[in-house]
Amino acid sequence: MKYELVAGFETHIELGTNTKIFCSCSTEFGGEPNSHCCPVCIGLPGTLPVLNKKVVEYGVMAGLATNGKIANISKMDRKNYCYPDLSKAYQISQLYAPLSIGGYVQLSNGRKIRLHHIHIEEDAGKLIHNHGDTYVDYNRGGVPLIEIVSEPDIRSIDEAREYVEKLQQVMRYIGISDCRMQEGSMRCDVNISVRPVGSEKLGTRTEIKNMNSITFITKAMEYEFERQVDLIESGGQVVQETLRYDDATNTTSSMRSKEDAHDYRYFRDPDLVTISITDEEIEEIRSKLPELPQQKCERYIDELEIPPADASQLTKYRNISEYFDKAIDGLKKPKTVSNFIISQIFRTLRTEEDKEAFAVKTTPEQLNELCKLIEDGKVQNNLAKSVLDKMLESGKPCTEYITEEDMAGLDDDLVEKLCKDAIANNPKAVEQYKAGKEKAIMACMGYVMKNSKGKANAQDVLAKIKSLIS
Ligand SMILES: [Zn+2]
Repeated sequence: MKYELVAGFETHIELGTNTKIFCSCSTEFGGEPNSHCCPVCIGLPGTLPVLNKKVVEYGVMAGLATNGKIANISKMDRKNYCYPDLSKAYQISQLYAPLSIGGYVQLSNGRKIRLHHIHIEEDAGKLIHNHGDTYVDYNRGGVPLIEIVSEPDIRSIDEAREYVEKLQQVMRYIGISDCRMQEGSMRCDVNISVRPVGSEKLGTRTEIKNMNSITFITKAMEYEFERQVDLIESGGQVVQETLRYDDATNTTSSMRSKEDAHDYRYFRDPDLVTISITDEEIEEIRSKLPELPQQKCERYIDELEIPPADASQLTKYRNISEYFDKAIDGLKKPKTVSNFIISQIFRTLRTEEDKEAFAVKTTPEQLNELCKLIEDGKVQNNLAKSVLDKMLESGKPCTEYITEEDMAGLDDDLVEKLCKDAIANNPKAVEQYKAGKEKAIMACMGYVMKNSKGKANAQDVLAKIKSLIS
């Protein structure tokens, strides 16, 4: 029998506010253990939390960017559990009235992964295990999070990967989180079950907790899918439980039997007021959202005639697309800029982090200047390429490397002479061309371009050679 994977995600994203969700402690990553703490975020008796307005604003932005409906009224609840990383024995979260309802993330295959809701909550502290001892660091306690809960709409590992990447990309674009999985500012719990292909009924699911890398997510899902299928095939039953993924052995193991919401005795937090957001406030936030990557990508393809694969590379990170937007200003062919970015500038950026930061010495205005010279026919493409390499190295404008002589172009007599030489020096190619092999003429063209040091206009040269041969 063939089985289908069914998965849903709970994605925790740390918000990039300066201060924590209910106090004024710093949210900065790292720092001496327990140096970013106060009586409020470690929950000492007698202290009262005050909600950080920025957290609500960021949560609304996340909801709008994923097509959700923002609730005019939402509330904070206490999720009760006892664990050393949570000193007050409850986490302040949202269950009954979350900030954003519904929405979806659209994948490249056209499928929409529906979202159940997005809620805001506080992060817990961290346990550090060292030589048999366990220490607790509350610096992370009270750092604001959003949790994005999807419906079980994911049907393959590839869809899972793309879903996580899309969320990461959108949240970075709107600037609410750096989504650095390796630092834990984005973490995923995956609910996974299997069912026979064609069946509509959901199988029993397991939940793999707290994964902080896309590679681990895909490996863990592959492992868990196989494990569940093998179990069912051999006559067993999947048990609803919470699992931990071990990347060293690439296996999952049981942490505890899966809990339900009622196990946490959720109730309304009496210390915090109701969050009320008017439609006007929601629209105000919506108007400040930047153009989202998907829309940007479609605009590049439809309006600027950029090939889809290139458009998706240009929109992967906001810094790249903003650079591109500036560099194409006033140009007739934005594709020239796109080609330079993807072929030449990307070559100077070694890692994904470099691409994301896109700290290029050449400013978009300088690249624009070079492309204008190409469009005006003053500089030929080959010359422009070598000029750009020098610009990227030094950060100087193109005028530093292009002489008056370069821009004057070649006079027509010289071009004609070079074309004649080319024909005389390539008798074989000329024969082949005459016999109908169109491409053979490129040998003559190459000769002219080489001997003019790339200064001749390729179109003119081609026309000239053709007319001289016939
Ligand atoms: Zn604090």
